[in-house]
Amino acid sequence: MHPDLKGVVELQQLDLQVAEMTGLIDSLPRQIQKLQSQLDNFIAAHEDRKKRLATNQKERKDLEGDVKEIQEKITKHKGQLYEVKTNEQYRAMLKEIEGEEGNIRKIEDQILEKMMAAEEIQKNIQEAAARLEGEKGRVAGEIKHLQDERQKDMDERERLQTRRKEVATGLSESVRELYERIRSYRTGLAVAEVRDGLCTACNVRLRPQAYNEVRSDDAVLTCENCSRILYYLEPSPAENAESGPAKADAIA
Ligand SMILES: [Zn+2]
Repeated sequence: MHPDLKGVVELQQLDLQVAEMTGLIDSLPRQIQKLQSQLDNFIAAHEDRKKRLATNQKERKDLEGDVKEIQEKITKHKGQLYEVKTNEQYRAMLKEIEGEEGNIRKIEDQILEKMMAAEEIQKNIQEAAARLEGEKGRVAGEIKHLQDERQKDMDERERLQTRRKEVATGLSESVRELYERIRSYRTGLAVAEVRDGLCTACNVRLRPQAYNEVRSDDAVLTCENCSRILYYLEPSPAENAESGPAKADAIA
């Protein structure tokens, strides 16, 4: 293979790897943010349960206050039973006391519901409290791991970029410029393999003479359709064996 051709194939490989590393490196802040917000959500839910428990306890206290108030009324009304003058007044007072006792039962049911809800919330709070330190540790560990990975990716990218410089410097100036020019408007892919007579980047068939020239790999040639630099690799024996029966079928 022509040294420049070999060079641009490697250059493209390096550029793709650098782009991949950059993608990984750039995705890291988002991943850390995601982990951090998992922990934030966990803590927020924990705090929310504590608030709900406090509200529950406040409401329960208020209800207990209501019961006490009604009980005082009942005591007062029971005392008044002895002071009424008529049977009618007596019955009316009894009815009032009955109503008040009914109200107390209703409120006591509500208090019971609050107590049961509080028990559930309390259980959840205890579970979350037990897990909280573990969650903090887990998130801190994962963030540390991601940061280490990022450092590794950055080191690797630097290594690739150093190699890229070497390879680019080794190219003849015209080929280097050609490569950079095609890469700038072909979104990264400046070099394409030719397979079975087709440019694998744009899928257009080469004219027979161009195909023959590309197959020799001893010059830097470009695709007439997409302008990418073309190279050809001899199919491996395994691929030959694979395409063998297919060709036989085609003939039959
Ligand atoms: Zn092409």
